[in-house]
Amino acid sequence: MGPTRVAILGATGSIGRQALDVVAANADRLRVVALAARRNADELTLQAERFGARAVVYERDGGADALAALATAADVDLVLVATSGTDGIEPTLAALEAGKRVALANKETLVAAGHLVRRLVDGAGDRLRPVDGEHCALWQCLLATRPEEVGRVLITASGGPFRELPLDELAHVTPEMTLRHPTWRMGPKITVDSATLANKGFEVVEARWLYGLEYERIGVVVHPESLVHAMVEMADGSVRAQLAEPDMRLFIQYALLWGHAPAPTRAMDWTLPRTLRFAPVEAARYPCLAAVLETARSGSLAAMIGLVAADEVAVERFLAGEIGFGEIAVYLHRGAALGRAHGRSAEPSLAEIRHIDAEVRGALRAEQVLR
Ligand code: NDP
Ligand code: MG
Repeated sequence: MGPTRVAILGATGSIGRQALDVVAANADRLRVVALAARRNADELTLQAERFGARAVVYERDGGADALAALATAADVDLVLVATSGTDGIEPTLAALEAGKRVALANKETLVAAGHLVRRLVDGAGDRLRPVDGEHCALWQCLLATRPEEVGRVLITASGGPFRELPLDELAHVTPEMTLRHPTWRMGPKITVDSATLANKGFEVVEARWLYGLEYERIGVVVHPESLVHAMVEMADGSVRAQLAEPDMRLFIQYALLWGHAPAPTRAMDWTLPRTLRFAPVEAARYPCLAAVLETARSGSLAAMIGLVAADEVAVERFLAGEIGFGEIAVYLHRGAALGRAHGRSAEPSLAEIRHIDAEVRGALRAEQVLR
């Protein structure tokens, strides 16, 4: 069998670039045949030349249809969906429908459309490979377990850059301070979501769709060192944990090769004296996590679609200096309420998801920013 032929959507982003490093280091097993970005045609062209792949620029070459065509092309075996935002939904569904394997980094797809993904594939596995670190780690911890042996799963959160900031200073943090994440280098949207912990809320929802667990069985633990990525608490109380240096290439490689292989990252250094700290999430510090979890537990998928749309608007506005850090949570609650109001069915179709998404963005963008 020849190398797996891979399409990378979001090739010019943080995950996309690291994925190209992984492909280059595993040229005998992986070959990139197609790449896509939103607008960065210059970098994408250079990448395409270097890897001998074709390139699709979303804004230039036909939007969602062009992405879906790329994700379902006959010469593609595996699609890495590493776009930011909700544009990942259509190509993910199209690729799964066409029988492709999908390595999914884009979490918005599962958070807004997990129910549609589940109709095509029975959660995480060879056909739907989680790239998000906690979920890839969970897969590793859950290997060789029987469902009745698993008590609950725990995903860890570094706590972001404001874990120790006095609470009354949170309202005044700047975009620049927020973009300085202590342990991970990522794109701007997910970096802000990691400071508010909305990201961790999204990961709980991702875990629900990937592993078919009820929300009561998915916990979040603060762990500032970001060495333990996820844990599984077994029925008897013993715990399996996955540890690795915080480097996304490890998870990207696991997903692309679907197993452990020599990695281009540092292994854990056991000669260093190291402390692993764990703590519960401080509710008052992270109202965005509470907003996501409350919406998730309400069971309204329309509300969650609205919340995801509102988070994108809020993060854009926060980064543009138009709203304060503390206002992001207010947007999430507003988005959930608007989403719920625009929802028509218990399990929204793709067209309904797009409708709710557009209505919520439209309503929030039309509001004056009072500053
Ligand atoms: P970045 O902002 O760094 O990169 C986003 C990439 O997606 C860019 O290549 C961008 O192209 C491309 N893109 C955006 N919209 C489209 C579109 N409609 N069509 C084609 N390409 C598009 O994001 P990250 O790499 O940080 O994150 C990507 C996804 O992975 C997110 O959903 C994030 O939550 C998730 N994730 C990221 C992690 C990380 O460590 N970075 C960890 C776990 C999950 P262009 O450059 O032209 O704008
Ligand atoms: Mg993660």
